[in-house]
Amino acid sequence: MTSEGKRNWKPQTALVHGGTTRSAFGETSEAIYLTQGFVYETAEGAEARFKGEEPGFIYSRYANPTVDMFEKRMCALEGAEDARAMSSGMAAVSSALLCGVKAGDHVVAARALFGSCRWVVETLMPRYGIETTLIDGTRTQEWEKAVRRNTKLFFLESPTNPTLEVIDIAAVAKLADQIGAKLVVDNVFATPLQQKPLELGAHVVVYSATKHIDGQGRCLGGVILSDKKWIDENLHDYFRHTGPSLSPFNAWTLLKGLETLPLRVRQQTESAGKIADFLADHPKVGRVIYPGRADHPQADVIRRQMSGGSTLICLELKGAKKAAFAFQNALEIIRISNNLGDAKSLITHPATTTHKNLSDEARAELGIGPGTLRLSVGLEDIDDLLTDIDAALGKVD
Ligand SMILES: *Cc1c(COP(=O)(O)O)cnc(C)c1O
Repeated sequence: MTSEGKRNWKPQTALVHGGTTRSAFGETSEAIYLTQGFVYETAEGAEARFKGEEPGFIYSRYANPTVDMFEKRMCALEGAEDARAMSSGMAAVSSALLCGVKAGDHVVAARALFGSCRWVVETLMPRYGIETTLIDGTRTQEWEKAVRRNTKLFFLESPTNPTLEVIDIAAVAKLADQIGAKLVVDNVFATPLQQKPLELGAHVVVYSATKHIDGQGRCLGGVILSDKKWIDENLHDYFRHTGPSLSPFNAWTLLKGLETLPLRVRQQTESAGKIADFLADHPKVGRVIYPGRADHPQADVIRRQMSGGSTLICLELKGAKKAAFAFQNALEIIRISNNLGDAKSLITHPATTTHKNLSDEARAELGIGPGTLRLSVGLEDIDDLLTDIDAALGKVD
């Protein structure tokens, strides 16, 4: 076996070569180790491996060579010491949130969260005696106000789903350090390329790899990255014994996705910028929220903490639900789907799909109205996308 060690690579190089471990055959592409377990030459060898005295794999619920390559490549990209790959983004989020808290602890989270993340914080955690407070995360003083003597964890997503609000990660991380809490950031919308939460002071970063990392609609996956100490003390045992492990086949698919991630994200972001500008000037569009535009409400924070404008756009049609539905139904290239970060452009109406379970007040608080749409821009030709959008808006009353 030969491994690509830690080197001073730029992201694009790390994403092609980082973490690669070759078998004795010297294969070019990463091998898929579809095995549940591993055999030992001797009983003494098994004993030594279980004692941790000898390196090697024990069982694929704990670690697997293909999954290990994916974890190492993610570490190289994120600049993290350690990682655990997960079977889905929600396996990653729920594990990251639950592994380090217990009954009697308090968690503060920004209220603008991906639906399932919000359920974990708002509904699941209190069932186990963990107190939770949801706040407007864009206002740094609200984090401060929500702190209690038992606050152990801060959780946020930025930019948020679907309204692309941006939270000042460095300010929240600083507050977490002051009170001895940990900050977990869900970095899906920014991608590992456009925002570096660990450099901004966050303690843990989580991804749904289902989104841009796969980027081609094939498989679910997730990953948690942090320093070695946090993973050893909080996640290591939790992960081994609750079993949210990623399948080796999906790890391989995600490794292949990482090779082209920078190319895809750059192209999709460039197209998203052009589409956002086009929509902002259109008479049937009331409002466009796009992190790459100077009129974004948190443009100053974005300048400090993001290096790109995102592949997603939030738009508000003046004609409310009727217009939003007519627009979606008239699109020919852009497909109606709640997924995002895909090579295919996808549009969703949050109020009736991803955010339908929230109360009307909770939706209003988040800025999700009947005319709100979330557009995930794909890899199609920009002229075709603009033509599709223009024609579909033409069919809206
Ligand atoms: C999709 C998503 C998740 C959940 O990921 P799955 O892979 O669908 O489990 C969590 N957070 C955000 C921001 C997401 O977009």
